[in-house]
Amino acid sequence: MFWGRFMTLPLVDQLSDKGLLKEQAYIGGRWHNALNNETFEVVDPATERVIANVANLGAEQTALAIKLADTAMREWRAQPAKSRSEILERWYQLITDNVEDLAIIMSAEQGKTLVESRGEIAYSASFIKWFAEEGKRVYGDVIPHAQNDRRGITIKQAIGVVAAITPWNFPSAMITRKVAPALAVGCAVVLKPAAETPLSALALAELADRAGLPAGLLNIITGVDAVAIGGELTSNLLVKKLTFTGSTPIGKLLMAQCAASVKRTSMELGGNAPLLVFDDADLDLVIPGIITAKFRNSGQTCISANRILVQKGIHKEFVERLKLAIDAFNFGAYSSSESTHGPLITQKAVDNVAAKVNKAVLEGATLVCGGQIVDRPGHFYAATILTEVTDKMSIFHEEIFGPVATIYQFETDQQAIDLANDTPFGLAAYLYTESMRRSWQVAEALDYGMIGVNETAISAEIVPFGGVKESGQGREGSKYGLDDYLEIKYICFGSMNK
Ligand code: NAP
Repeated sequence: MFWGRFMTLPLVDQLSDKGLLKEQAYIGGRWHNALNNETFEVVDPATERVIANVANLGAEQTALAIKLADTAMREWRAQPAKSRSEILERWYQLITDNVEDLAIIMSAEQGKTLVESRGEIAYSASFIKWFAEEGKRVYGDVIPHAQNDRRGITIKQAIGVVAAITPWNFPSAMITRKVAPALAVGCAVVLKPAAETPLSALALAELADRAGLPAGLLNIITGVDAVAIGGELTSNLLVKKLTFTGSTPIGKLLMAQCAASVKRTSMELGGNAPLLVFDDADLDLVIPGIITAKFRNSGQTCISANRILVQKGIHKEFVERLKLAIDAFNFGAYSSSESTHGPLITQKAVDNVAAKVNKAVLEGATLVCGGQIVDRPGHFYAATILTEVTDKMSIFHEEIFGPVATIYQFETDQQAIDLANDTPFGLAAYLYTESMRRSWQVAEALDYGMIGVNETAISAEIVPFGGVKESGQGREGSKYGLDDYLEIKYICFGSMNK
């Protein structure tokens, strides 16, 4: 079905609850224009139509939000965890009740299909539910002391005002993975969403407001001057921690900026995920696994299978079957239920992917299919397979961030492990084999924060997400996801024998 008329409606008229489309920033529990009333355009990447004009804030309003967050946090962190949890539970419920509208907003600004957006909203909400529960379980220790007359305990306390900066590829889930644990333990948050996708962040704030989250605890700073907003977030002394999801170069820059005031940082950065297919792999599992790992969000994910390493004996059949699966793709706008895959986020992203593919072909890779910009409105690049790719080509070292499968060949397990680890990144890796022994051996040898064995859909709120090496530090989700927002305080009781 093609929702012809629906598609031409303004975004607000596509929503059942029109109050979810916000164009002002959210500071101290109120909606704000920019001080100079400036706005910036948000564009649907599938149609290149302007769908909203959002307040364009700078450093001054960021500083105001930080001040209000600091004040609000004092009362919030003094409340019992159970009270905070009840508000988070209400927020979770409101998101769940509004999945369809939130999915439309996300698809309109980010481009992913409605099926994918609904999935992300459910995933995003799951972090709020999880941390509403986990926030009640912040335990300390009683430590047997070295001296007879002393007793030692530790308590864990909210770290303080948290600054958060998030990317456009998962405009909702990258926010709740940070905001939910921060709020659950008693912090306040000042968040800058990506300029391409501010509307999902603002809709989340509107629902937090309706859930009764006290003013000042969640602030959304929209704007295109990332340097000014980021500069304030990383230099303001009231901010005690920065949590960032985005590219490795910007992550490094922000870490350096935070060093001046010794702020804690958590970094969820870029990836260059290998996916290893051994001769004994079950291709009935591998192909759907790769369709998810490589082509979800049209390849714009940090855990995307960036390098597909295939053992020699299975290579030919693998390429044929992957091509067949890709032939069924239908790139298009979210407004068509026939679309299986959406556009890339911007024309610049399309040009980047095209340049990487062209260079790989010049360096000797074989183009099996795709390899061109799709001739239609919007930012579309065709699903592409490159074979005969080697570690001597530049594409081996780059995060592709597009629907391009690069296929490498290997002969021995050790060769595959060496190729997989030959990168400064270490976020996710995958391997397909029917051998239990090989699964263990290879999983242990891969220098990555997350490994999928015969599985590529590895992320969930209950497990730790995060990387090693230049893919970052810290873990989001799971029981470990609270640690990034807590300080450990040791208390010594002396003269206990008196
Ligand atoms: P990006 O360019 O690093 O941008 C991410 C965020 O940082 C955006 O909000 C951006 O704002 C902001 N930013 C850019 N320059 C800044 C500066 N100088 N100071 C402060 N903030 C600044 O990354 P992206 O292209 O949006 O996202 C894709 C990257 O994110 C990929 O590398 C991907 O692997 C990574 N990622 C990692 C994870 C993970 O969990 N490890 C998850 C998702 C994505 P503007 O939008 O205003 O420029």
